[in-house]
Amino acid sequence: MHHRDDWPTEPVLAATNRLALRDEALPRHLKPSAVLLHRQVRRRLRELDLALDRATDTYLASELRGATASLRELLACHFPLDSDRCPTCRNRLGRTHEWPCHVWRTAFALLVRRQT
Ligand SMILES: [Zn+2]
Repeated sequence: MHHRDDWPTEPVLAATNRLALRDEALPRHLKPSAVLLHRQVRRRLRELDLALDRATDTYLASELRGATASLRELLACHFPLDSDRCPTCRNRLGRTHEWPCHVWRTAFALLVRRQT
């Protein structure tokens, strides 16, 4: 099996994941539109978790809570911790992408824009 040593380990993901949910963790020089996108994706995920807290089908709620947790981890891997660049996405020349990258834009399109 192919093995990549530079894949994030779970503790790193967990720490990054917590940061990704906080406004104050965002780098200060992001564009206002990027800050808004982050806030709206985060708010939608929180809404989904609150809805799952109220769900009567506890099995289904538990399964779906795992799905939102997985999505948060995925988004955390693409979260700009110390610059306005995605730490994960690279173009063919190895350059990083400006944030929000494709992953966050897709999450926004599917979770937020589809609601309105
Ligand atoms: Zn990315």
